[in-house]
Amino acid sequence: MEYLSVTNAQNCILESVNKLDIETVRLEQSLGRVLAEDVRANRDLPPYDVSAMDGFAVRSADVANVPATLTIIEDIKAGDMPDKTVHAGQCARIMTGAPVPQGADAVMRVEDTQALSENNVQINRAVKPGNDIRRLGENMRDGEIVLTAGTEITPGVAGILATVKRARVQVYRRPRVAILSTGNELEDIDDPVDPNKIPNSNSYALMAQLQALGIEPALLGIARDDPAELAEYLQRGLRFDVLLVSGGSSVGVHDYVRPVIEALGVQMQFWRVAMKPGHPVAFGATEKCMVFGLPGNPVSSMVCFEEFVAPALRGMMGHARIYRRTIVARLTHNVKHQPGRTEFIRVTLAKEADGYAATSTGAQGSGMLLSMARADGLMAVPADSAGLAAGSAVTVQLLDGTVFQDDVGFKE
Ligand code: AMP
Ligand code: MG
Repeated sequence: MEYLSVTNAQNCILESVNKLDIETVRLEQSLGRVLAEDVRANRDLPPYDVSAMDGFAVRSADVANVPATLTIIEDIKAGDMPDKTVHAGQCARIMTGAPVPQGADAVMRVEDTQALSENNVQINRAVKPGNDIRRLGENMRDGEIVLTAGTEITPGVAGILATVKRARVQVYRRPRVAILSTGNELEDIDDPVDPNKIPNSNSYALMAQLQALGIEPALLGIARDDPAELAEYLQRGLRFDVLLVSGGSSVGVHDYVRPVIEALGVQMQFWRVAMKPGHPVAFGATEKCMVFGLPGNPVSSMVCFEEFVAPALRGMMGHARIYRRTIVARLTHNVKHQPGRTEFIRVTLAKEADGYAATSTGAQGSGMLLSMARADGLMAVPADSAGLAAGSAVTVQLLDGTVFQDDVGFKE
């Protein structure tokens, strides 16, 4: 059977991705969401020429020859409106953010002056017109688009939204996602420890991966390897926007996910991808629900989430940047690789003089979840590679942080 490449599988999934509908959220709840509307400035900012410094508003011609002594006619604080005009030989004491008075064309910072008396100041430096003045409208102009639809709401964007008085904004809805684990051998977190069982870690690792994307999933629990029970659980899951099914999609005789899910009307697109770990990963969709069949092995499940589920979810939430950020790092050891499948090796990263060093987190079995728990990133080994030598430049997808990019960034 022909296996899809990772990027072909990603593209196949992305063809089914549509942005979700739009909802209104309060600014306080908007961090990480994506704007579904253009946002315009509602006034000129600054609304008039203002001082960029604490100092004196002067006429630049008066201070062409220094030192020069000027008479202080007024004190202008931020929030005050000046009511006097600065004439030749005069100045006004001014604070940062306060409006520059009529007649003055420059601000002299207080450090370049010397107080002579209550009403007189000596200016020690010549300045050009416009010095230390923030011009009317230099931040934004009334009516101008300051944020376009598709912008992710970062702390800086939240500041701009507040600046233009948007207490509520339109954003793309977050997907409703359900997680179903399958397998007779599984024991759930609140069950007593049974030495013959396998703890269900996938539901919770997937839950945390979703939470890291800002999504609070529904945990549907564990379905036994029984077609009737599986059908019941899957039906419940198909009411969500996205259903993640862990396990049961391999070719074992008790892997019932495939026949049952097809019987429920899910149009499956693929069942295998040429990757390691994670090749038994499946994807399909109904009219309303995208279904991912994730491998039961704990590392495979998490890696497949990173490569396939996360980009799809970010696309649904309106993000332009859907892929994990990649960096180039220096490999600290040899890596063996059989040509055929793209491999994702879990690595730690250490800062070097210029860049980063990547080191495997240790044994890389697809059931060795500690290899993932210790990882800073996933190193992509191209499918056709016959192995990598210590010192090679390698591509690593960063697993931490909230920074994403708009292309996949690695060669397979
Ligand atoms: P499967 O894909 O169902 O054949 O499962 C492959 C391997 O992953 C088996 O060793 C399972 O015990 C293990 N596994 C399946 N589901 C989970 C889960 N939810 N948590 C941890 N391990 C699992
Ligand atoms: Mg199973």
